Amino acid sequence: MRTYQNNQIKIFNSLHGKKEDFIPLHKGFVGIYVCGPTVYNKVHLGNCRTFLSFDVMTRYFRHLGYKVRYVRNITDAGHLLDNDEDKILKQSVLEKIEPMEVVQKYTLDFHKVLEQFNLLPPDIEPTATSHIVDQIELTRELLRKGLAYEVNGSVYFDVIKYNIEGGNYGKLSGRKIEDMIANTRDLDGQGEKKNPQDFALWKKASPEHIMRWPSPWGYGFPGWHLECTAMSTKYLGKKFDIHGGGMDLKFPHHECEIAQARGTYGEEPVKYWIHTNMLTLNRQKMSKSTGNTILPEELFTGNNTFFEKAFHPVVVRFFFLQAHYRSVLDLSNEAVASAEKGFFRLTSAIEKLPSIQASETSSFNVQEWISNCYEALNDDFNTPILIAYLFDAAKLINNLELKNETLTDSDLEELKQAVHAFFYDILGLELLSDSLNDNRKIDTVIKILIDLRNKARLEKDWALSDEIRDRLLESGIILKDGKESTTYEIE
Ligand code: AMP
Ligand code: ZN
Repeated sequence: MRTYQNNQIKIFNSLHGKKEDFIPLHKGFVGIYVCGPTVYNKVHLGNCRTFLSFDVMTRYFRHLGYKVRYVRNITDAGHLLDNDEDKILKQSVLEKIEPMEVVQKYTLDFHKVLEQFNLLPPDIEPTATSHIVDQIELTRELLRKGLAYEVNGSVYFDVIKYNIEGGNYGKLSGRKIEDMIANTRDLDGQGEKKNPQDFALWKKASPEHIMRWPSPWGYGFPGWHLECTAMSTKYLGKKFDIHGGGMDLKFPHHECEIAQARGTYGEEPVKYWIHTNMLTLNRQKMSKSTGNTILPEELFTGNNTFFEKAFHPVVVRFFFLQAHYRSVLDLSNEAVASAEKGFFRLTSAIEKLPSIQASETSSFNVQEWISNCYEALNDDFNTPILIAYLFDAAKLINNLELKNETLTDSDLEELKQAVHAFFYDILGLELLSDSLNDNRKIDTVIKILIDLRNKARLEKDWALSDEIRDRLLESGIILKDGKESTTYEIE
């Protein structure tokens, strides 16, 4: 097995638009910050895909022996809608509960879902509301530096001044300030800003606004972008290794984070920016605000109109990992069903591994296979390629069982360790329990019998078709003939 001392990862750094060797700021340590969810609603599968991608990255760093500090925040204040309404406050009015009840309810849901997906918890999970003091301090510092200005109890970041003084607002997302100004709509509250690109560090709040805190500028609440700068630099330092999030956060959120941190500390805050691509449903971005979503629980229970059956979370995890994190992935019944078939093909081979016998010689190059697996992950965490190599291992295991291939004792041991490392530890997959596996097999067998019965009916072999139906009924399996197809129910 490798360690970071004899292994080189390449990461696609969004800041420079290319793959770069990953060299951490401090040898043997990795600091990573990922923008967490805004907890005003149930987490959707698109969010899960993004957090899963970072789960695999941190698992891989840990596998290589890095000491990782993984910080993922909870946004429980300050995330505004286009019309300047607070997402959490709006939900609290809708549900007739306290804003902090909204936060608690959806934070619990978020944790539950990520656990179902077998995501490891972050090392620190800070919340925006418990870092108000840090955010006020950052705002004061930016005012002191002349990069922010106060108007009527709100404080805005001065983007033009920042860029005149050598800032790089627009670099990450590849936008020019002049174009941005020309294309900006006149939003509510904009009247206070010197120019439309300026963004709020602190917003004045009226007494009706429940989520508000005292500050040097009166009662208010922090801007959404500021919380991530406050919490990332607090726990990882003024400069840290990796900052991640979905592509949709590149602009303006991450652009603003860079401006705030550079404005305050005078240096580029993040060495590697990693952006994950979107999960789509019906080829449209999955999103809470547009309603184009399917919830994890709906997929896991089968309680939805989109999928023909329920899927286990580990199968959905496998489905996500079969796409590279920088590719768009479309969620469809066919795609998840085919991932499920693949998953069971893979796991039925892995299950056999403990009983495989060693031989005198090896007919397969295990070292080369292990090296290929590492190189897949080193190439910007290419999980689909790694999974393709795992399928090669499945084929090998099946051949070992049939004695069409052989492995020596030590090669077999290395194969077992590597499969364990890649399948369980890094990809975070697991074998499904026997009962689930058995259910799947029973389902397949009943479907085969239904097909044979349909064939008999087509050939007008009523005796056989009735016999299949009756004998299944005797064992408590009821066939139901519909207009288009036959389904079944188990008593
Ligand atoms: P939000 O709660 O909307 O702030 O999103 C939490 C995280 O999920 C962010 O990193 C988003 O970029 C990411 N995200 C949102 N929608 C999707 C999607 N459809 N596919 C993948 N990631 C997404
Ligand atoms: Zn953020």
